[in-house]
Amino acid sequence: MTGSNEMACQELVELITDYLEDALSPGDRQRFEEHLALCPDCRNYLAQMRVTIRLTGALKGDAIPSELRKQFLGVLRQMKRRQLH
Ligand SMILES: [Zn+2]
Repeated sequence: MTGSNEMACQELVELITDYLEDALSPGDRQRFEEHLALCPDCRNYLAQMRVTIRLTGALKGDAIPSELRKQFLGVLRQMKRRQLH
């Protein structure tokens, strides 16, 4: 189970609350952490997420500002567009 099983940034974004709640299966958690090791952007996103959670004091799924998530996905899209040149 290597290579083809790589996690995409978008998948990481979707799993991030489960990760922070420690609710991922061991397999997903490992893929999540492998992606983080390779992807500085997702590390940034996770750091931002942790700060936001500390500030709002809540980690209840939909309490996570969807703005932050939208913002990050927008940044990803821009990066991909740039890489296509
Ligand atoms: Zn990523």
